[in-house]
Amino acid sequence: MPVLPALETDVLRRQDPQAAELVLGELARQSTTLQLIAAENFTSPAVLAALGSPLANKYAEGYPGARHHGGCEIVDAAERLAIERAKALFGAEHANVQPHSGSSAVLAAYAALLRPGDTVLALGLPDGGHLTHGSPANFSGRWFDFVGYGVDAESGLIDHEQVRALARTHRPKAIVCGSIAYPRHIDHAFFREVADEVGAYLIADAAHPIGLVAGGAAPSPVPYADVVCATTHKVLRGPRGGMILCGSELAERVDRAVFPFTQGGAQMHTVAAKAVAFGEAARPEFAAYAHQVVANARVLAAYLAAEGLAVTTGGTDTHLITMDPAPLGIEGRTARGRLAAAGMVLDCCALPHSGARGLRLGTAAVTTQGMREEEMARIAVLLGKVLRGELDAARARDDVRALTAAFPPYPS
Ligand SMILES: *Cc1c(COP(=O)(O)O)cnc(C)c1O
Repeated sequence: MPVLPALETDVLRRQDPQAAELVLGELARQSTTLQLIAAENFTSPAVLAALGSPLANKYAEGYPGARHHGGCEIVDAAERLAIERAKALFGAEHANVQPHSGSSAVLAAYAALLRPGDTVLALGLPDGGHLTHGSPANFSGRWFDFVGYGVDAESGLIDHEQVRALARTHRPKAIVCGSIAYPRHIDHAFFREVADEVGAYLIADAAHPIGLVAGGAAPSPVPYADVVCATTHKVLRGPRGGMILCGSELAERVDRAVFPFTQGGAQMHTVAAKAVAFGEAARPEFAAYAHQVVANARVLAAYLAAEGLAVTTGGTDTHLITMDPAPLGIEGRTARGRLAAAGMVLDCCALPHSGARGLRLGTAAVTTQGMREEEMARIAVLLGKVLRGELDAARARDDVRALTAAFPPYPS
């Protein structure tokens, strides 16, 4: 099924050619360049169909069976479907599928468990923490007292001894594990043990790996964390949005923290699209996809190292790779710009224990397109040539166009 049914494209084109051009232009951009941003993916035409549905019109404050609006019978069923599928997929006692984003999920988790001024232990931002893990520019840094743990300067791995020592010293009310850039599995059992020792809640911010968890390609935080926050649009391949999983005893607090404390009406088209995505993620094909995402990332990391890039932690367990391009004589921001000109879209990231910027990339989107180990090798070689200045942007762009043409994200 094509991503934009001809009829809908026609409606938009006739009424608003300017907007239609933007929509189709973005589709063309996504289809003809390489989407290597670690947090991005191609959601399915079925998910897009739910997103572009009349459920977008419905006001539904509250929860199924207890809404502040009439006419909610059908959206109630849609939300129940999403909740039941999320609970089954992740083995969780309770799921809240209303958070508008990953950040909203984290905000609600803090609202459920903490009071302003409480101390929270989380991965420091320079070492891979998210904005919601205590950035001064974010509500988290303003309203809570964050203490940051870090990664070891040599290995790039989370410094477990430091986590334990900081927890004993600061006695945080909550410990957050989860990162925007950490390429390795997180030892949830370790964090649970430390949280128990100091009487802290454990919040797992699994925004990145939750899709791998769904496909059985990464360990689940659900048995260990009091609350698991997640996004639905990263490796999980659903609509842009958030989700919270927890045990029955925290269910009511979490639900009240989402609505009415931090959000208003739920976005029912997105909730329905989450149900569709959870349905897809429960299939064997998705498990195969998740494992291929990791296999591709491992191979890509090895080829990138062979090209001379300094790959953080020496590789990856997940979909995510971070690396320093300095050995190729180029700095992170310049590297990102040069790659973008060549049609290779990725992000910069902080490099722990260094003032310099690195590069962060992932394999979720290219794997959805059907690319495998062979294509990862091609991508790494191309990336190396562009960064070393051996191939100009226009020539590299042609190679990217040829590669992506063979793997259309939305075949028509
Ligand atoms: C992506 C991410 C978020 C935020 O998700 P948004 O939907 O962009 O708000 C939060 N925490 C972590 C660890 C993330 O990777």
